[in-house]
Amino acid sequence: MRILAVLLLLATMPAFAQQQRKPNIIFIFSDDHAFQAISAYGGKLAQTPNIDRIAREGALFRNALVTNSICGPSRATLLTGKYSHKNGYTLNEKKFDVTQLLFPRVLQQHQYQTAWIGKWHLGSMPQGFDYWRILPGQGHYYNPDFIEIGEKRERVPGYVTNLVTDFSINWLEHRDTSKPFMLVVGHKATHREWLPDLPDLGAYDNVNFPLPPTFRDDYAGRAAAKDQDMSIEKTMRLKEDLKVHADYTRNIYNRFTPEEKKAFQDYYEGRVSKEFDEKQLSGQALTEWKYQRYLKDYLSTANALDRNIGRLLNYLDKSGLAANTVVVYASDQGFYLGEHGWFDKRFIYEESLKTPFVVRYPGVIKPGTVVNELMTNVDWAPTLLDIAGVPAQPEMQGTSFMPLVKQGGSKKGWRKGAYYHYYEFPQPHHVYPHFGMRTSRYTLVRFYGQANTWELYDLQKDPHQVKNLYGQKGYEKITAELKQQLGQLIKQYEDDEAAKIMQQG
Ligand code: CA
Repeated sequence: MRILAVLLLLATMPAFAQQQRKPNIIFIFSDDHAFQAISAYGGKLAQTPNIDRIAREGALFRNALVTNSICGPSRATLLTGKYSHKNGYTLNEKKFDVTQLLFPRVLQQHQYQTAWIGKWHLGSMPQGFDYWRILPGQGHYYNPDFIEIGEKRERVPGYVTNLVTDFSINWLEHRDTSKPFMLVVGHKATHREWLPDLPDLGAYDNVNFPLPPTFRDDYAGRAAAKDQDMSIEKTMRLKEDLKVHADYTRNIYNRFTPEEKKAFQDYYEGRVSKEFDEKQLSGQALTEWKYQRYLKDYLSTANALDRNIGRLLNYLDKSGLAANTVVVYASDQGFYLGEHGWFDKRFIYEESLKTPFVVRYPGVIKPGTVVNELMTNVDWAPTLLDIAGVPAQPEMQGTSFMPLVKQGGSKKGWRKGAYYHYYEFPQPHHVYPHFGMRTSRYTLVRFYGQANTWELYDLQKDPHQVKNLYGQKGYEKITAELKQQLGQLIKQYEDDEAAKIMQQG
């Protein structure tokens, strides 16, 4: 009997060991966190030691691009591995079809336990997850409501970035340890209106941020950039966004405890609004003051984000999970921190097109790997499936980037052009719909609808994208080549709407 038992044990061990070796995955997903605000990307505005740690111990993507630079569509693309025109979620504030092919559901079919905790913002309730606990809609920074799977909506005391991390660690503690897991940690930070956690109020008050080179952009030769409504000068609101004499009867402040409200009023009334009143600024000086205040609020809000990523990494170390857990940190898109005079996102231009993306995979990705190839968010779902050892899903439009990181950051035959299509118009921010392509050197874009314009940028000569070369003498050949390449991508991704517009020239 004893021999039989030993034999049985031996026979089942390889399968068991195989099961145990399947890596866990944690995808930390923030909202509107610009790569310019991350020190691993060379940003000088703030220090982000914990995001930097993931990059140092794994890989950093210098050209991680989104395919439609707004919140909901980026989440829909993460879930489906498809472009907006294929997953149906082209605009914010729609109802996402959760019955379609989602990577977490595929993982479930392959014995993974799946969870999404935090910001979801897709209009419908999650599917494909064994557990979820989400913020309704945009969610609140202070004392937010959460909806938990199978439970009622309830208000939870605390600060959102801390709570999302608490709930994530709590789920990890109580999960079914017989299975590998995939957890999405969805942060609200650093979305507008940028309410910092109390310990971070005033964190950057002694800093004077340099103006980006394009802060006073005149938008010459760029009709869409001229017609937007997302400038710090005109669109950013003193009262709501920058809390100058804020209305403390608003819903977001009604959720505060008396102590929290007092701390906010002491800071924003006692210091910020007081300074505003004393300075009596106007014109360019006022715009620059708004920029300074915007960055202070934005980066203070981001402090809690990095700190909580550190908490989660420490938990993985202490629990022994770190060695077999892949950790990704990404934002849903990039964001303007004053470049072109803007905040917000949407445009195919660099700061909103590029999103931060770092990944740690112990034993597989060599620490300090830097990837310059064009990776997009349609690649995320196929990659996560690849990591889990699950076959590629033909319906998904992206490609696993694991071969890139396994080979030191590049791979022969990798894509030469990344396709982009933005839809949401006119509200909010009045950015004309457009589609286009980014190569390692050029950006080609076609605005359509109320605008009918092409733009071409040479990133080598004009990294800040202020010189539209489209139609300029000497650029005929490259324009024709890029247009042909763009047409091929449109065909490949089956974007019929864009194909029709291309036919118009
Ligand atoms: Ca976003």
